[in-house]
Order: sequence, then structure tokens, then C-alpha cells
Amino acid sequence: EKYVYLFHEGNASMNELLGRKGANLAEMSALGLPVPPGFTITTSACRRFYDEGKTIHPDIGRDIYHALHTLEETSGKRFGHPSNPLLVSVRSGSSTSMPGMMDTILNLGLNDYTVTALVKHKENKHFAYDSYRRFIQMFSSIVLGVDESLFEDELEKVKQQANVEQDSQLTPDHLLDLILIYKEIVMKETGHKFPQDPKQQLLTAIGAVFDSWYNPRATFYRRIHKIPDHIGTAVTIQQMVFGNLGPNSGTGIAFTRHPSTGENELFGEFMFNAQGEDIVAGIRTPQPMTVLKERLPETFAQFDTIACHLEKHYRDVQDIEFTVEESELYVLQTRSAKRTAEANIKIAVDMANEGVIDREEAIMRVDPAAIAPLMQHTIDPAAELNVIGKGLDASSGAATGIIVFDAEEAERQHRTGHSVILVRQETTPEDIHGILASAGVLTTRGGVTSHAAVVARDLGTPSVVGCESFKVDMEQRELHTDTVILKEGDVITICGSTGRVILGEVPLVPPKFSREFCTLLEWTNEFKTMRVYSSVNTPQEAELARKMGAEGVGLCRTELMFMDPERLPRVTRMILARNQFERRKALNELIPMQKYDFHGIFRAMAGKQVTIRLIDPPLHEFLPNPSALALELERARVAGDNELVEEKEALQQRIEILHELNPSFGHRGCRIGITYPEIYEVQTRAIAEAALELKMEGIEVYPRIIVPLVSDWREMKKVRETVEETLQQVFSIYRDRIDIPIGVFIELPRACMTADKIAEYADFITFGTNDLTQSAYGFSRDDAEGKYLAYYLDNNILPENPFVYLDTEGVGRLIEIAIEQGRKNKPNLKTGVCGEHTSEKDSVLFLQNLGMNFISSVPQRIPSARIAAAQAAI
Ligand code: PEP
Ligand code: MG
Repeated sequence: EKYVYLFHEGNASMNELLGRKGANLAEMSALGLPVPPGFTITTSACRRFYDEGKTIHPDIGRDIYHALHTLEETSGKRFGHPSNPLLVSVRSGSSTSMPGMMDTILNLGLNDYTVTALVKHKENKHFAYDSYRRFIQMFSSIVLGVDESLFEDELEKVKQQANVEQDSQLTPDHLLDLILIYKEIVMKETGHKFPQDPKQQLLTAIGAVFDSWYNPRATFYRRIHKIPDHIGTAVTIQQMVFGNLGPNSGTGIAFTRHPSTGENELFGEFMFNAQGEDIVAGIRTPQPMTVLKERLPETFAQFDTIACHLEKHYRDVQDIEFTVEESELYVLQTRSAKRTAEANIKIAVDMANEGVIDREEAIMRVDPAAIAPLMQHTIDPAAELNVIGKGLDASSGAATGIIVFDAEEAERQHRTGHSVILVRQETTPEDIHGILASAGVLTTRGGVTSHAAVVARDLGTPSVVGCESFKVDMEQRELHTDTVILKEGDVITICGSTGRVILGEVPLVPPKFSREFCTLLEWTNEFKTMRVYSSVNTPQEAELARKMGAEGVGLCRTELMFMDPERLPRVTRMILARNQFERRKALNELIPMQKYDFHGIFRAMAGKQVTIRLIDPPLHEFLPNPSALALELERARVAGDNELVEEKEALQQRIEILHELNPSFGHRGCRIGITYPEIYEVQTRAIAEAALELKMEGIEVYPRIIVPLVSDWREMKKVRETVEETLQQVFSIYRDRIDIPIGVFIELPRACMTADKIAEYADFITFGTNDLTQSAYGFSRDDAEGKYLAYYLDNNILPENPFVYLDTEGVGRLIEIAIEQGRKNKPNLKTGVCGEHTSEKDSVLFLQNLGMNFISSVPQRIPSARIAAAQAAI
């Protein structure tokens, strides 16, 4: 097996073997772009490294030296040569990009001799000594495990003694002193001299980069992005070029289109006299690309041409790292750019319109889960805001929350239900778990290509970076702004679309879709074959759903129509009723309201199907909380209000009678409609009356009724009889009729297994995958996550949360059986799914492949569902 590839031996398609970075460097070399020469050690060498107890097999070592030798020949330099030394960078890169999560070592090959050669060669003492100083620091902390702050502290001390602010102001003598101090630190901490043999440096560095695959931040990043652990990282060795050689050198990162807005313009940042890591780490805030254009117009023009070339070649927006060494341009990396959801959509649609990709591909490029930020509210433009600062707009969207100053606190506060804004001077990859727990991220330093910005965009977290007028005081845990001092726990709002930082909470407005987003959603209709309905409970939601492109209502949960505080007591009264008389009385109060809502929903969905579920009250969701009730009773007693005491006591008794140990599987669903048929009767009447009344107005209505939580065909038969009888009564009173199909809501395994018999009494089948997941696993959907499911997921007992990602093996198989059974005697039986899974792309693809006819989502997720449905059909 070949473990080492020179750049010219690889290409972009070898991503899995060479990692994305290695494969793209190979591709760029082949394109004839100015890429410093190098080679890549494969991901398979990394896997072998782990298989063999974290050692690099001598065979692989030999291949590495062999490639190194070739590199020496191409570069005309020699590794460790005292007058013409080769220096290299050692960089990680897996097949899925994990920005900043693994380690990188620059300037490798420096030692006490080669540094002197570097001085002579570049005629720049400061540069040479600073490179050596940085190398000792990087190598020792990453490879030898020396605490990096020991070096940082000494650097600070020397700067103080020299009375300078910037590293670049230190004299060569200061740097020489530092090198000596650094070497002493290494001796003291490791018991060995700093390694002088470049080949030894190289092998140990490669091992360390392999080893960084399992560092905590990389492991965490993989977990949240669902990147498998076993794939490993490749390591790329590349000849160094120097951006820190003086005023005509520098380093930059540029995007071929704007990563926040998607605007088609070169967008990037540049830092003169710096090395690549300086930008990524956000230690200095870089300047916009125009500075390069002004100072080195030819170099800039060359870069611009290359950037266009790369975007065309890869047919996607590129994020390009480059270095200018004394006006000479070198490209060090290109990759598909991480971007905000908004930018992603604009870019996909623009590229389809430009003819670079087709519409199918444009749709495929939009992750249905990643558009959530676009559905978020934004700051009301008319609101009066107390803007306390402005930074760079790094990741769009607005977020309000309490200030926290470190990742641990962010996690802690998030766990207790707080919305938090993580405020840092700059973020490091170690902060990733804190960023994940935060509603927004604010940094006082760093540019829009800094770590914080890249990760925030990737996660869809609103972010403002480089807010330089702010100072973070970590000791006092305070944020000093120009006008106020804020403490941890104070509330701020950040607007990642404009870079504003605002004191306190602010009024928000609902989202407005960009033109490109509307276009993309239009395009979904050209491809998708499943209908996308919405699950709505009010006329307002129905209107919203229609605006979002819903093709009808797939589920109206009638019990949820009563959740507002005015209506809820009436539902409670109905549930608590001791006899039919009391129940009818409560119903008579409820139904007019419900009928009114049906009118509204039918109207909003004129011309479209509206499926209404007969009442399904899991009792525990609707009854007063017993301890709250006990408290109220106590208060009434203290107040001496006998009437109230009596009422509360009666209520308490009734609740005790109705109390169920397992309410999810209790007296709910069609069991209610069978034991108290008057409830379903009255609801059916309201549905039919509302429909007929609108029909009279000339509005097209297509009502459908669905029966929840059926486990046996006899239940379905019984309810169907009740519903049909009632419909006939209404039709004869109204002297008109309307077709109202009656379907079954399948949420229980038994119903799946016997769907053939049930289908005899059902005009269509809808699967409720929330309850079906609950009943298939026997996991309570209310408690599982907090109790054991989180543990299961953390410890890989289960790969995914089945309430979010449809479990295809078990729940999916049940659905498959039910469809087979159901269509045995009714080959054209329509089936669909309601439940939380209907906007999740893998689940939707699975449902498409089962031959599902429709899915139904809440209005806010209709766009995701439409995209997922189109992708499933492409
Ligand atoms: C379901 O169980 O999947 C469903 C849609 O119904 P509900 O969430 O109302 O129980
Ligand atoms: Mg259900």
C-alpha cells in the first residue's frame, strides 16, 4: 500500500485518502497554480498509526524520507543543511474539513544551525530568530506537551522589559534571549534538549498531528457534525513560504464570494508581515483585501485571477489561504467555503442562474436543517436601540442572552435554560462546546475569518467579532464598553447581520425571505413528488403555513386549539365531567369556538385539503398539576372561602379518579371517542357544519377527518360508524353534503401489523411517528431525553435520537409493513406522515423510498420539508 503521495501524484478526487487539504493541494499543483511543493501522508497511515499503538511503522517512515528527498530535489534545499536548509510546515487535514480542530506546526527543520542559515539567506535577523522562537513554542507545546503558557509568559516578560507592545518591535537580541529561555523551559519540562535533528522533528511532529485527531475539541467537533471517528486525518508536509519577511510579505484568507451574504465579490482579509496562524487565531485583527490591492496591485491581480479560476474549477465558493513572500504569491489551501445559510442559498441560486450548476444541484446544496436561522426573527428596524458597540458582522441573525465569559459557564447557564452570549477576547478551538451552547458569540478581536467567525457560521450561530472598542476583563469578569461596564449575567443583544451590540433585550420582527430563497423554494415544486402539508392548530398558523408554501393541512390537533388560557379551563371541564350531561354542557361551550376556528382554517386553506384529527388528549397534558391544586386548596382554606374549597376538593377527587400511572398510553385517542362518543359526535358536527357553511359562501373546502391512536380494526369501525352517522345527520339538516374522507392515524405497532384490516375502515393512513417511536421503543417521549437518552447518545448506545431522526430499522420497518398491509386490498391507499421527522432529510428520504404520498410539518419547518422532499426525489 502506498502511504505517501507527492502533490503531483494526487488529485481532488482522492479526498478520502489524502484529506481535503492534501487532495486540493495536489489538484492545484496539477492546475499549475503557485503551490509550494510537498507531499501528503494518507489517512490510512493514520489508521495504521492507531492500530499499531500510536507508532509510525518503519516502512511508512521510509516512504516519508523518500518523499522528503524528492522535495529536497525539487526545492534545491536540504533538510537540516547548515547553509541552505529546507523548512516545512506539517498540517493536518481529514476528508471533512474541521477548521482549527487539529494541530499544525510551522517552520519545522529549524535548529541552532539552520537558523543561522536563515539569517544569511533572508538577510533578516528578526525574521529568522522570530521563526525559530515560534517553532520551539509550537513544537514543544504540540509535540512535547509543554504547557504553552510558560512560553507566552516569558514572551510577555521580555516585551515588558523591552518596553514594547508588539512582537514585531522586539530586537533580534531580545529574540535570541527568548530562544535561550525557551530552550531552558524545554530542558526543565521534558528533561531533554530541544530536538535538533530535523528528521526526528519531522517524524515526531507527524505522530503528534495524527495524535491530535483524538484531542478533545476534534472529538467533540466530530460528534456534533456526525463525522465518524475511524476515518482519521492525513498529514501534509509542505515547503515553507514566509509571510513574515517584511513589508512586502504577508498572509491572507479570501472567499470568492461573501460568506455571510453570498454577494458575488471577492471578500477577504490580509495581514502584512505575518504568518497564516496569526489570522486564524484572531490575535491581530487583519485588514480588508483592498490593502493588498493598494500596496501590491500585481500580486493582488494575480490572486484575483486564481480565485476565479478555482471557483470555476470546483464549481463552488472557495475559501483560499495564501501567502505573499516578498511580492511573490503562493496558494496554501483551497476548500469549499463555510458560509451562512443565507449566503449558501444565494450562492446556490446565483450559480444555477449563471449556469455553473443546475437547479437540482442548487437544491441539493441546501441542507434543510441549516436553514433554521433564516426562520428566526430579526431586530425590528423601527425599534429604538441602545447600541453600545459595533464589530464585524461575522454570522447573521440576532441573539439575545446573558453575558458569559467562558465556555464552561456558557454550558452551565445553557443547561439551566438560559440563552447565553459567549463573550471572549478571541475564541480558540477549545471553546467549541461553549459556542455550541450559546445563542450568540461576541469577540473583541479577530476578523471575519477568525476561528470564532468560521465556527459560528458553520453552526448557524449569530456572531459579532472584532468589536475592538470593548475590553474583556477576565479577572473581574466584566465587559468594558465605551459607555457601560457589564457584568456576567447582564443581558445584551447582538446582531450578526450588522455587527451591532445592543444593551438589553430588543423587539424582533418575523423573518423575511430573500428573493433567492423564494426562488429556491419555487424550484422544489419542479422535483418533489410528496405533497408537503402543514400541521396547524389555528387559523393564524394556517395562514402562515400557506405563505410558507404548504399544500394543505396534514394535521389539525383539535385539543391543541384550546391551549390558550381562556379556553383551557373548558377543556379541563370536559375531561373532568362526571357524566354525559356535564360533558355535553362543557362541549356545547367548546364547540362553537372550535367551529369558528375551523372556518378560519378552511378559509386560509381554500382549495386545499384540511385534515382534522378528532380529539386526542393525553390527560396529563390537560389536567391541573396536583401539587399546584393542593396549594390552591390550602390558600382557599386559609382564606375561609368555603365555596372555593368545595370546588377545589371536588376537582381533586376527580383528578384522583382519572389519575393514570402511564398517561401516554392511557385514556386518550380514539379510546376517548369510543367511551364518550358524544365528544366525537359533536366535533364531527362542527367540522361538517363549518365546511358546508363555507361551501355555501362559494369557498372550496376539502375537509378530512382522522382518528388517533387506533390499535385495532374494531376501534376504527366503531368510530367510523359514529362519524358517518353524525355526518348524515348534518347533511340532512343542511340539505347539502360534502365528501369527508375518514382516515386512521397509526401510532401503535399493533396497528402497523394489522393495517390490512384497519384499512377496510380507513380512506387513508397517516403515521404519527412521534407516538409510533414512543410505542415502538417503549421510550416515553416526555421523559426519555432527560433521563437516559442523552446518556445513550453520549455513549454510543444509540447512534441518534430516534425522536429526531426516524429509526428506519424498527419504526421504519413497522411503517413499511403497515403500508404493505394497507395496500394489500387497497392498492391506491394514500399514506403520509406527521411528526417531528418530516423535515429531517434522511428521514424524509427514507419515507420517499417507502412510497409515501405526503408529509406534514409545523409551518416554520415547511421550507425545510419542501427542500428535503425535493432532495429525496432528485
Ligand atoms: C405523532 O404522534 O406523531 C403525532 C403527530 O401526534 P402528536 O404529536 O400530537 O401525538
Ligand atoms: Mg400522536
